[in-house]
Amino acid sequence: MSKKWVCGICGGEVIEGQRFTFVASLGAVHVECLSERSTSKMDDNYRDSIALLNANEVLLYAIVRLKEAGRIAKSEDIKSLIAEVRSSIEKAAGRLSTAIQELLE
Ligand SMILES: [Zn+2]
Repeated sequence: MSKKWVCGICGGEVIEGQRFTFVASLGAVHVECLSERSTSKMDDNYRDSIALLNANEVLLYAIVRLKEAGRIAKSEDIKSLIAEVRSSIEKAAGRLSTAIQELLE
C-alpha cells in the first residue's frame, strides 16, 4: 500500500492524482492550498491577474494539445471537429487575455 500524505495546510488527505508539493516547514501540501495561501493577502486586482493568468495557461496548454491531436487524427471529420473545438478555446483564451490587459489599464 502506498504512503498516505496529509496536506500541511488544509489537513486533508492528498489523494492520488491531485497535484502536491513539499514545503520544508509543512511537509506535503496541495498545490491549490499553497496557491490560495500565497495569494490570500494580495490585493483584489493582483489576485484577479493571477487567476486570469492561471486560467489562460490551462487554455493555452489545451490549444497546443489540440494542435497535436489534429495532426494525429486521420479522418477529415475528426480533424475538423478538433479544429472547431480549438477555435472556440482560442476565442476563450483571447477573452481572458483581454481581461488581463484591461486590469493593467
Ligand atoms: Zn490542502
